[in-house]
Amino acid sequence: MRERGAARQSVRGDDLFEQIGAFLGAQGLSPEPAHYGFAFAALADPDTPIARRVAELTDGGVRLNRKDIERLGHQVLEGGAPLAPRDPRPSADSQAEQLVAETRATVDGFSTMMRTITNETRDFGADLAASAAAIERASPIAGIDEIARITTMMMNRVRDAERRLARADEETEALRAKLAEAHQTARIDALTGLANRRAFDEAFVARDAVAGPWCVVVVDIDRFKQVNDDNGHAVGDRVLAAIARLLADCFPGQIVARHGGEEFAILIGGVGLAEAARQVDAARQAVSVKRFRTRDTDQRLGRITLSAGVTAVQPGDDGERAMARADRLLYAAKAGGRDQVCAA
Ligand code: GH3
Ligand code: MG
Ligand code: MG
Repeated sequence: MRERGAARQSVRGDDLFEQIGAFLGAQGLSPEPAHYGFAFAALADPDTPIARRVAELTDGGVRLNRKDIERLGHQVLEGGAPLAPRDPRPSADSQAEQLVAETRATVDGFSTMMRTITNETRDFGADLAASAAAIERASPIAGIDEIARITTMMMNRVRDAERRLARADEETEALRAKLAEAHQTARIDALTGLANRRAFDEAFVARDAVAGPWCVVVVDIDRFKQVNDDNGHAVGDRVLAAIARLLADCFPGQIVARHGGEEFAILIGGVGLAEAARQVDAARQAVSVKRFRTRDTDQRLGRITLSAGVTAVQPGDDGERAMARADRLLYAAKAGGRDQVCAA
């Protein structure tokens, strides 16, 4: 009894997700939801027949074979890469996939738990009815013993149900925190730390509820391909990140996003077109006078410049229409010789 209790303790709460990952890695199973489902069934509750069987089969570090897993009623999917050691900075996509699998496993766990509790309640009801009948037939002394036995049984079952519910509560909380984190990660550009296109599009829609004026800006680094060709992609990446920081500093409190490649989008609230254009031109100028140097050799890079298109959001504009207008203005700025801002 004590051993079982200890084993159960070890899979409670956040540990379970870690253990599922370790189990899949040790068994050479890819992180498909079906494999997560199997790992969850094998680890969540050590008292289940499948968990006991897996524990027996893997005793001493033995790896399960395909037949073992299929005999236990689960599938082995081929083709996916086995679970690799965790990337210290998982991408938003892989994080989202993992989260989907974890959510599924947690929901599976909840329904198994609810079924177990429902069955136990039903069995308990039947036991109570049988005991009540026995008490009626028994002598007064035997009746008291029977009441004590039922009370103990009732308390144990209630405690067990409480423990399961507490575990479900912990898992829900862990999942909620992971969901919030994934929600955030999915809206941040990994290279620059700025909002990404999705976050920008959402901010544009949310802006509708707030009184304007609003302006949309598209900024593109001039001849950036040449920066990469001359200095390498890694230096190009650092230039992108430096320009991102500079733009974020120039527009505090506004939405500055990496809209893709070497292109940024800015949503400016509270100022009209002329003032927005002035602010964007000040940012352009700040970049054009900045002296970029390589980190390793401290060599100066050539001058880096930006072009931008700025437009006021009109009533009835959706994000696409406003951005298309800003894009046309950007290309006018490029055609006009680059290192300039066009506004309309
Ligand atoms: P233009 O003045 O017309 O904008 O010229 P450009 O060279 O900047 O434009 P083009 O569209 O020809 O090239 C964009 C370049 O941006 C090519 C691509 O390699 C580079 N780029 C896009 N994303 C990244 C990135 O994440 N890192 C690096 N280092 N380069 C990137
Ligand atoms: Mg460019
Ligand atoms: Mg571009």
